[in-house]
Amino acid sequence: MKQDCVICGQPLGFMKFKCRDGAVCKKCYRIVSQEYTQTIVDRDTSDLLAIFEKYKSQPDFDITRRINQYLLFDDPHQLICLPNNRKYSDAKLPPEFFSYRSLKSCSLVQDTIEIKGKVRKNLELKLSFDDSIERKIVLIKKPIEVNSSIYQSMNKVANQIINNLAKI
Ligand SMILES: [Zn+2]
Repeated sequence: MKQDCVICGQPLGFMKFKCRDGAVCKKCYRIVSQEYTQTIVDRDTSDLLAIFEKYKSQPDFDITRRINQYLLFDDPHQLICLPNNRKYSDAKLPPEFFSYRSLKSCSLVQDTIEIKGKVRKNLELKLSFDDSIERKIVLIKKPIEVNSSIYQSMNKVANQIINNLAKI
C-alpha cells in the first residue's frame, strides 16, 4: 500500500519511520525525532505536527559525530547540538545549537560524600557559552560509589565529552 508522510504529504519511499497512525519521511523524521534522540512510534499525527511546528526552524545540522545521547557534532557547519533530553539536561529545554566558537568552557562539577568509608560522587558537566549561557549535562544525578561500574563508564563518557570539546 502506498503511503504518504503524515507531516509533509510526500509519498514515502523505502526510508520511512512509523508513528502510531502512519509514517514519516526521513526529512521530517529528523525534525520530529529532535535530531534522532526521540522515538515516534507512540506518537500520533497531531503530536508530530505540533513537534514539527515547534522545531522546524532549526538550522541545518548534519551529525558527523556524536557522544551517545549527550552531544552531537556537525563538523562541516561547526555546530554542536545539545539534545537536552530532560533526563540529562536537568531542565525543560528544546534541543539547542551552538557554534563551536561560542563555547567558552566545559568543566566537571561534582559533589563528594562518604558513606561507611566508601566515596560517592555525582557526575555533571557544566558547559559555558557566550552571553553567559550555561547548560548542564547530568551523567549521574545523585552520588554513587566511585568504584561502581556505572560510575566508571559514566566517568569515561565525561572525559570523552571534555576531550572532544577541548578540540573544537
Ligand atoms: Zn515528510
